Amino acid sequence: MYKKLLVNTLFICGLGLASVVHAIEQVNLYSVRKEVLIKPILDEFTKQTGIKVNIIAGKADNLFKQLKSEGQHSPADILLTTDVSRLHRAKEANLLQPIKSTILNAAVPESYRDPDNQWYGLSLRARVIIYAKDRIKPEWLSSYEDLQHKKWYKRVCIRSASNIYNQSLVASIIAANGKEKAEMWVHNFVKNLANIPAGGDQTQIKAVAVGLCDVAVVNTYYLGSMLNADQRQRSMAQKIAIFWPNQANRGAHVNISGAGITQSAKNKANAIKLLEFLVSKSAQKWYAEVNYEFPIREDLPSCNRLQTWGAFKADTIELSKLGELNSVALNLMNQAGWY
Ligand code: FE
Repeated sequence: MYKKLLVNTLFICGLGLASVVHAIEQVNLYSVRKEVLIKPILDEFTKQTGIKVNIIAGKADNLFKQLKSEGQHSPADILLTTDVSRLHRAKEANLLQPIKSTILNAAVPESYRDPDNQWYGLSLRARVIIYAKDRIKPEWLSSYEDLQHKKWYKRVCIRSASNIYNQSLVASIIAANGKEKAEMWVHNFVKNLANIPAGGDQTQIKAVAVGLCDVAVVNTYYLGSMLNADQRQRSMAQKIAIFWPNQANRGAHVNISGAGITQSAKNKANAIKLLEFLVSKSAQKWYAEVNYEFPIREDLPSCNRLQTWGAFKADTIELSKLGELNSVALNLMNQAGWY
């Protein structure tokens, strides 16, 4: 009788233990993307794999600092952030580690991942010229370089030099034209700004819509989200058109949102599984569309809204180079008085 009770107890305890082991299958994500934007796709991952995803969402610089100060004790397994220069910075600070994944290498084109496999792009975004449809003819536009000419004097809006998207754009201009020409470009471009840079990309779109400037340089997804927002924002966005710059040469400047596995990762296998899931065809479609971005995979079409903007040629530069040129770019910008 006692023996049977003991066996039963062990059996029940054993089951309990098994379910505890199952429950702690997890992965910890430090995310620059807002939780509401990624939660549905992470829930789907949990549903398919049983791996729970714990999200700590925050601003890019804060999460970077937190990861750095926590060091090897950080609970983070994955850093998910936007802009290649931030991923490059995390790599340079030894916050990431190389991983081996044939799935990631097959899905993410070489120019959108780290040569040492420490970070991978998860979505693609384009930084383009937008213009006021009622005042500007698209044939007057051609390239980022063209925006330095006098015909654009005090007609251009763009956010501040502290914005990493702009630093990466200038890095791409340095990579394409050399430092000297890029320096000249920044110098002339700053003179063409209609006002002292302030606000985010949507502020620039609104400034063009209300006539404070005629053209601006912004990421396309900001226009995408305005076109799907309330009537007031929609009517402003409808006054704006996208111009794909540099189609006659290197193509429009593109950048990524992406992720890497942290140096401190305690759940490395689960973290790799999550990244592999995020580049799967179904996840990619959702992940790109929810924020009006483009899939990182080249074998997927863009969603309807993006298709109405037309196909475009993207700059094929290896994005890791933009990370390497980040400090040179920022110096040029500050020296030219772009703050
Ligand atoms: Fe953004």
